[in-house]
Amino acid sequence: MMVVKFGTPVLRQKGARIGAVTPAIKQLIADMIETMYAYKGIGLAAQQVGVAAQLTVLDVRGITDRPSSLEMEGKAVEVDDFMPMVLLNPQITPLGSPTLGPEGCLSFPEIYADVERPELIEVRAMDGNGENIQFRCGGLLARAIQHEADHLNGILFIDRMAREIKEEIRPELDALQEETKRANQEA
Ligand code: ZN
Repeated sequence: MMVVKFGTPVLRQKGARIGAVTPAIKQLIADMIETMYAYKGIGLAAQQVGVAAQLTVLDVRGITDRPSSLEMEGKAVEVDDFMPMVLLNPQITPLGSPTLGPEGCLSFPEIYADVERPELIEVRAMDGNGENIQFRCGGLLARAIQHEADHLNGILFIDRMAREIKEEIRPELDALQEETKRANQEA
């Protein structure tokens, strides 16, 4: 699948809640995981492949210099054992204090900037098998899940940047948006 870029309207759409994991949803999950790996991303939201739905896939194993933590039922577990991770209708509760960290986004190629987000979160969601899951996580995984959960509500990482940081990258953002609009018109 193609990842759509900033300037494509679907990125601003709130995703529809997913009621059940149908064969069509299973296929979408498989296609999204494949696309995430093809683009070397650590997370991908349905909006980024043109579908406004509450579905995201993640895999933080590709980044080894930024640690993640994961706790299931009060016990620390191996992050790698739960990758790739599939989250449907995720609900995030922030637990830790906000920390600043670098972020990128497959819909904003070559644009990176610091974003402040809670360091630790609790997540409730449905997994790729339709089971309800609940866990706590921190570090890179917590940041990635918050970034993706935002996508599902039509929120982009530029919305979370401090004003002065966003102003700094404004020319790149404007250029990307223009380029996307032009490409979408031609398509
Ligand atoms: Zn993103």
